[in-house]
Amino acid sequence: MAEREQQKMRNFDLVIRNGLLISGDGSDPRRADVAVKDGLVAAVGGEIPSGKEEIDASELIVVPGGIEAHCHIEQSSSVGLMGADDFYTGSVSAAFGGNTTIIPFAAQHRGQKLPRVLEDYHRRAAEKSVLDYSFHLIISDPTEELLLGHLPAAIKSGFPSVKLFTAYDLIAVTDEQFLSVASVCREHGAIVMVHAENNAMIKWTTKQLLDRGHIEPKYHAVSHPVLAEVEAVNRVLMLARLVDASLVIVHVTCEEALAAIERAKAGGLDVTAETCPQYLLFTKESGDLPGYEGAKLIFSPPPRSAKDQEVLWRALKNGQIGLYHSDHAPYRMDKSGKFARSTTPTFKEIASGIPGIELRLPLLFSEGVSKGRLKLDDFVEFSSTNAARLYGMFPQKGCIAVGSDADIAIWDPSLVKTVTKELLHDNVGYSPYEGRRLTGWPVIVIRRGQVIVRDGELRALRGEGRIISRQAHEKTATARRAADIDPANCFGAELL
Ligand code: MN
Ligand code: MN
Repeated sequence: MAEREQQKMRNFDLVIRNGLLISGDGSDPRRADVAVKDGLVAAVGGEIPSGKEEIDASELIVVPGGIEAHCHIEQSSSVGLMGADDFYTGSVSAAFGGNTTIIPFAAQHRGQKLPRVLEDYHRRAAEKSVLDYSFHLIISDPTEELLLGHLPAAIKSGFPSVKLFTAYDLIAVTDEQFLSVASVCREHGAIVMVHAENNAMIKWTTKQLLDRGHIEPKYHAVSHPVLAEVEAVNRVLMLARLVDASLVIVHVTCEEALAAIERAKAGGLDVTAETCPQYLLFTKESGDLPGYEGAKLIFSPPPRSAKDQEVLWRALKNGQIGLYHSDHAPYRMDKSGKFARSTTPTFKEIASGIPGIELRLPLLFSEGVSKGRLKLDDFVEFSSTNAARLYGMFPQKGCIAVGSDADIAIWDPSLVKTVTKELLHDNVGYSPYEGRRLTGWPVIVIRRGQVIVRDGELRALRGEGRIISRQAHEKTATARRAADIDPANCFGAELL
């Protein structure tokens, strides 16, 4: 090697030495050093000269920083309720959970203009976020002005993902509006994320329950029937096929919805299923708790059966599910959150949503990798790589390769901790996972070359996060496509 090259290499800012590296670029797990300079990955391999700072990772696992791409941060809901986490507490909590990037939502409520909405969220995040960030655009009011001007401009300016709802009166779009937005997205290279539940089926079932006096928190799970999800998933798949739009079905909970998505993939649709830890770890019985304790487990769609759980774990393994995110929707167990509408609410009046931004990855590591359900490669795909690819950030984010942002999480696979609310850094005041013993935790988190979390201590300042300009969506850019799935591994095969 030329003398000048060697000289240059000696100037590394940081070298992570001898960790088990899963780089997210398709190569197998291996022992390797990672060198960082000027916020970027500068070298990967062996025999890297010493840097200004060194981290001995010989007992540790080195992976790309997590990307949390489904979370509600400093966002007001369609009924005007503000979540408990702002961009500071939300991003700090995410950082302690092994993440370096967040993509929450910029929510357009009816009557609001999209450029103004983006401006608002941009300001909130720029002042407070310790992590890099972008936004998915929630659209609830697709006016001509939005469809012809504001939305194409927003997509072009680095926000190639739109979220639509089929449920909730104040935010749901009609099928016709869905088609209009989806075809604009198709034309300009954006992906359409959907909260798919049938609004009428939820409202009708809720009324039947309340009329019979079934008002306790546990009935929330009954009020959002599986069929409401299955109907809406099937419908949006057909709508998307009509305009050839690329879809993400967020928070898929059950076997029948997954089967519908698999059929659509086989028909050539670019569609990706997302699931969340709460559907892998809770069932519909979990919310049957005394008093208002069950409010801690009210989220929509609700958790389903033990059978569905099993199917979801298998689907993570065989590639039928491509994304795994928290759907962090933080409401405190008081009048600022869950009980904002009433101190003695029916299940319908309790704010729906749970925290999970900090535990998403520790839960996947412990329940998935440590228990042998998933390999480390799978963990990295769900942690960051798949989201980076699908949401237009790869290879800047989502992998540890020369030239990528040095976003790195270093995990101790044998560290055991019990979840308490004191352990966590969000502003929610409870965790639905309290009391669980988890094996495997992130111990060092590095964002663009800077150590921001080490040994339980935050070393980042508010506002250090940067906006990410994302690339237009390339169709069927998911990490594993339907055609890659061995039919023998579909439902019924023994993979767990
Ligand atoms: Mn949702
Ligand atoms: Mn959500």
